[in-house]
Amino acid sequence: METIAVVGAGFSGAVIARQLAEHGYRVKVVDARPHLAGNCHTERDDKTGVMVHRYGPHIFHTDNEKVWDYLNQFTEFMPFTNRVKTTSGGKVFSLPVNLLTINQFFGKTFSPTEAREFIETQADLSIENPQTFEEQALRFVGKDLYEAFFKGYTEKQWGCSPTQLPASILKRLPVRFNYDDNYFFHKYQGMPKEGYTAIVEKILDHPAISVSLNTQFKRSDTGNYDHVFYSGPVDAYFDHQYGRLGYRTLDFEEIRADGDYQGCAVMNYGDATVPYTRITEHRYFSPWEEHTKTICFAEYSRECGPDDIPYYPIRLTEEQAMLSQYVELAREEPGVSFVGRLGTYRYLDMDVTIAEAMEAADRFLSLQRDEAKIPAFFVEPI
Ligand SMILES: Cc1cc2nc3c(=O)[nH]c(=O)nc-3n(C[C@H](O)[C@H](O)[C@H](O)COP(=O)(O)OP(=O)(O)OC[C@H]3O[C@@H](n4cnc5c(N)ncnc54)[C@H](O)[C@@H]3O)c2cc1C
Repeated sequence: METIAVVGAGFSGAVIARQLAEHGYRVKVVDARPHLAGNCHTERDDKTGVMVHRYGPHIFHTDNEKVWDYLNQFTEFMPFTNRVKTTSGGKVFSLPVNLLTINQFFGKTFSPTEAREFIETQADLSIENPQTFEEQALRFVGKDLYEAFFKGYTEKQWGCSPTQLPASILKRLPVRFNYDDNYFFHKYQGMPKEGYTAIVEKILDHPAISVSLNTQFKRSDTGNYDHVFYSGPVDAYFDHQYGRLGYRTLDFEEIRADGDYQGCAVMNYGDATVPYTRITEHRYFSPWEEHTKTICFAEYSRECGPDDIPYYPIRLTEEQAMLSQYVELAREEPGVSFVGRLGTYRYLDMDVTIAEAMEAADRFLSLQRDEAKIPAFFVEPI
């Protein structure tokens, strides 16, 4: 029986480990952290009993039937709709920017058609071919909405001016002309009843899988296995020999209170003068539960240092160039495939992560059957 190492017990690693275990491989899963589920880790807070999302709130949403059915084997999903509010200029508004936001903001009672026509009068039509985030926003929603809802938030989130970010970060028309305030358009949306860590625990519960937590995997360990699936940072695997790929990290400031703190799960803060981007109240991510005390987190975004947790890949021109160098190295490295959000240096939602992991395991199995070479990447990172 061949032995496979899977580095990282997040969704990428867990899904691959399970699929290979079910096809007769012995799989060793290692994670440097003391818990399962990677960045999706959830645990009950001792003092409140609230299920806390330790690395920021995670809402499951997908159109992918296969992924939805897969996860439903391991958990019961509870109904959850993500509705976000924002505080801007001393007032509270509905997000994403929709007809209610527009009517509140401009003090109007527009119909959908009237709102669309009005927003067109706000748009800066002199910008024909928007290149930057700011130009894109000014072109499609105009100065007032841009400054209230996009500018300050984006500056805080990315630590730079929206004039330095590409237009592609913002959708062409980031507003809705109806009262739909459901953040996601996907067919399936929900929260796992017992949190995400319980799902990963069940995925990894297979006699051919062994798990070692608090275990750091190093490049020199690769030769001990028939193949390695590595879901850690690709630059860290190569000891940052070309430098560190840029990420944003997050600091979470804990807020505790009796009862209800803010009345909703997510309150964004659009003003640049407020240092945090949002406050999340985690009892609202399990609305079917009752709690008398509450726990919230104010989220601060900043540049990721060597000892910080990498959250959002920056992926601007400079990072893309460095990534290309690591991709070249990875292609030369025998016996290892790089997977997941860190292995391929991309932002991935959970459903995409799971779909890619299923696909990677399937391709590995079929290449093994054909005695063909296993690639360094199953999804091109560039
Ligand atoms: C703030 C935030 C909010 C998000 N919210 C949502 C959401 O609402 N909905 C959604 O669908 N997605 C969301 N996501 C995305 C979600 O977090 C990812 O899809 C998911 O975490 C990717 O899983 P992964 O297994 O690839 O990576 P990870 O979960 O990061 O797992 C990688 C694991 O590898 C381990 N590791 C790394 N290097 C080593 C090493 N050398 N040795 C041993 N172990 C190692 C790490 O400790 C980690 O546990 C969010 C992401 C962020 C940043």
